Formats: sequence, C-alpha cells, structure tokens
Amino acid sequence: MIVDEQAADLIFMRQALDQAQNAQLVGEVPVGAVVVWEGQVIATGYNQPVGNHDPTAHAEINALRQAAEQLGNYRMPHCDLYVTLEPCAMCAGAMLHARIRRVVFGAHDPKTGAAGGVIDLFAEQLLNHQTRVTGGVLGGECATMLREFFAERRRRRDAAAAAKPAEVDPDFTSTIVTEIEFAEWNAIKR
Ligand SMILES: [Zn+2]
Repeated sequence: MIVDEQAADLIFMRQALDQAQNAQLVGEVPVGAVVVWEGQVIATGYNQPVGNHDPTAHAEINALRQAAEQLGNYRMPHCDLYVTLEPCAMCAGAMLHARIRRVVFGAHDPKTGAAGGVIDLFAEQLLNHQTRVTGGVLGGECATMLREFFAERRRRRDAAAAAKPAEVDPDFTSTIVTEIEFAEWNAIKR
C-alpha cells in the first residue's frame, strides 16, 4: 500500500521509464507511460509511431487505449497517467477526453509540450474537466534517456554516412526531423 504521493510518483515513473526502454529497444524515440488505478498499474504503453505506421501511437495514447479496454470504459476519472516526457497537444487532448484525474510527467518539452512547455491545455478553465498536473518527476533521468538515444542515432548515422556517403539508411530518416528539434530542445534546456 503506497501512502505517500511523492514516493508513489517515483515508483510509477520508474515503470514508465521501463516502458521508454522498450521503445528504445525497437528503435523508437524512448518515451514510456503507465496508467495507474487504485495504486496499481493497469496499462502500459511506449512510443511506436514509426513501427506501427501510426502518427497517434504515442506512449500515452497506447497506454490509454489499453487502460480503457481493461476498465471497459473510455472515461477514467479515477486513473492517473505517468509519462516520461511532457505530453503533446494530441495526448493532452486524449487525456482530457478520458477524464484522467492526474498527469505526472518526467522531462519538460519546451518544443511541443502541452502541459506548460508551449501551451497548457490542462490549465484551460473553459474545459469542463480539470486534470491535476505534476511535472519534472525523475525529469533528469527521463531527459538523459532521450538525449542519449539521439546521440547514439547521430553516431550511427555519421558512421553510415562515412561508410557509404551516397546512401541514407531509410531507417534514420524518420527521426531526423525530431532529432533536429531535439537538438534545439537540448539547447533550450542547457
Ligand atoms: Zn503525444
């Protein structure tokens, strides 16, 4: 039984980080999420847009879909969602539709974050559902995993380019744009 919210946040963010690791293992940008209901993880998800050919296959959406199926309900007012990166507008919107009670995220994302990074959809008073948001939980670890992923990608791409300058591995092209954005993100983050 977890009594302390901060302690619980660390435990569940670690599980979201495990999910991010799963994304990394299949070559996706490492972002992971879990949905918690009554102190237990009932659904997990990791980023899979490239592999699934699905622009909506973010970690949060995958976890929300699984949680809704588990509960047999598309609304989850007693659930909390943990994700390693600040949610984008699409995911924030999905969480509001799902009536998620609380969102806890790791790394801040000043490029596409919709929980205060660029905009704050959760603070929108006109929406009839209010979701509590906590950011920066294990933020350093979550950001490091992303940073190392892109550094490794860069190393592999440079090595491939040096070996065969005329060829570009199509596997890399899908992340190049994100990588450039992420370099900027890192610059902002210092
Ligand atoms: Zn998203």
